[in-house]
Amino acid sequence: MGPLEFSPAKGEMRSVTAAAGCSLFVLAFAPIVGYLSSTPPGHLMARTKTSYVCQACGALTTKWQGRCEACGEWNTIVEEIVDSGVGAGPKSAMAGGRPIELLPLAGETETAARVETGIGELDRVTGGGFVMGSAVLIGGDPGIGKSTLLLQAAAALAERGRRIVYVSGEEAVAQIRLRAQRLELGDRPVLLASETNVEIILATLQNGPPPDLVIIDSIQTLWTDRVESAPGTVTQVRTSAQALTRFAKKSGAAVVLVGHVTKDGQIAGPRVVEHLVDAVLYFEGDSSHTFRILRGVKNRYGATDEIGVFEMSTLGLREVANPSALFLDQRDKDAAGSAVFAGMEGTRPMLCEVQALVSPSPLGTPRRAVIGWDSSRLSMVLAVLETRCGVRIGANDIYLNVAGGLKINEPAADLAVAAALISSLTGSPLPSSNVYFGEISLAGGVRPVAHAAQRLREAQKLGFLGAVTGRLGKGDVPNGIAVGEYAELAELIGRIAARGQRQAAE
Ligand SMILES: [Zn+2]
Repeated sequence: MGPLEFSPAKGEMRSVTAAAGCSLFVLAFAPIVGYLSSTPPGHLMARTKTSYVCQACGALTTKWQGRCEACGEWNTIVEEIVDSGVGAGPKSAMAGGRPIELLPLAGETETAARVETGIGELDRVTGGGFVMGSAVLIGGDPGIGKSTLLLQAAAALAERGRRIVYVSGEEAVAQIRLRAQRLELGDRPVLLASETNVEIILATLQNGPPPDLVIIDSIQTLWTDRVESAPGTVTQVRTSAQALTRFAKKSGAAVVLVGHVTKDGQIAGPRVVEHLVDAVLYFEGDSSHTFRILRGVKNRYGATDEIGVFEMSTLGLREVANPSALFLDQRDKDAAGSAVFAGMEGTRPMLCEVQALVSPSPLGTPRRAVIGWDSSRLSMVLAVLETRCGVRIGANDIYLNVAGGLKINEPAADLAVAAALISSLTGSPLPSSNVYFGEISLAGGVRPVAHAAQRLREAQKLGFLGAVTGRLGKGDVPNGIAVGEYAELAELIGRIAARGQRQAAE
């Protein structure tokens, strides 16, 4: 097994599989020997114990089951050979620990060095760029744009003189070059390789000057000689990711691992390596919409609740400078059942449209369909409307949708949802110049939420004249916006219903 030769992003379309040379083989073998030294010869042959591993969450069971008890996914449990997996190995490797110096809590610490990509929305989610010596996982549905964004980031960094290595196990070098040309990035000095064996990849990376950033696309295609399981299984994906994470720590390079979220569970999902890496980002959005959201779910070096918003264009993913304007772009202002929610995503206020449709149900058990919000939260809002506000709504079919494919996690959306529901139920549109935010309590009260001032300023910036929310603190309200403060949900419901009756009478 010899190291690969990197291919420049610019070059002839030719396969590189025959690039390994004999003389390089000897040089590169030393690090591999070191790397494999914990696995004695014959160890792999010694025992082949199998166990049943969930490909979605990595949970172990003693027998095959149709459903994983740990994560609830169906059909994800696969028999795997586990004897040489993570943590396995000869006892002798555990001996011979050496003492390390203990340090005081107080002391000066350098801030982590980062590679800033220059793609603002990506840097925002990572907390200012990829941290050198860290491993980052970028997960998402296949085809959502992970490879495109990373190729753009690689090209931007390479142009500024960084050493960037892009290893693809999914595509041949020629395909990556074609993609780079489509994105008009074909002439950037990115180093490419098409390889899936972890030992070969590591030998290649250790051969030559250390890279600043290594992109591995994707972890599911990787396999290592150290374990016997098939590529794509939990054991393979974990062991491979562990080896690359260790390489990041040792070499000081930032390593980005791409992980496909797979629905059927036949391939191990990115979740099984989440705990191994320093940061986890997920790409959201669906192919029917042009925009994509990059969400941080774990970050040892920064905040986790930031999102980056991108728009898919012919030249790759474009940053969206003003996401609120994008999400409200196609709003039907005069439709009943539509309310604008003034939300927060991390440190950034973001406005979006909540749409509700309430229609009489022919079914004994009415339908509830929710897209972009928590369905148990909807049940709670409905129960409060029914019990505390005396609104007869429960027997209807109810559809709730957050426009544009955005996912909202904030309880602050309660009030916008309640307003949209009542608007649809009464058939009267809400004032289109208002935004709504506030958490609803089980007792029927409207609770104030954090960052009210920021939400109001964002609404004002986008031309909204009023806001409906809970009681605000002094100094929360910027000048020039009319704020309706409601302590009780019933009060607001009364107002919306009365407005509907006035409109009907006119
Ligand atoms: Zn599971």
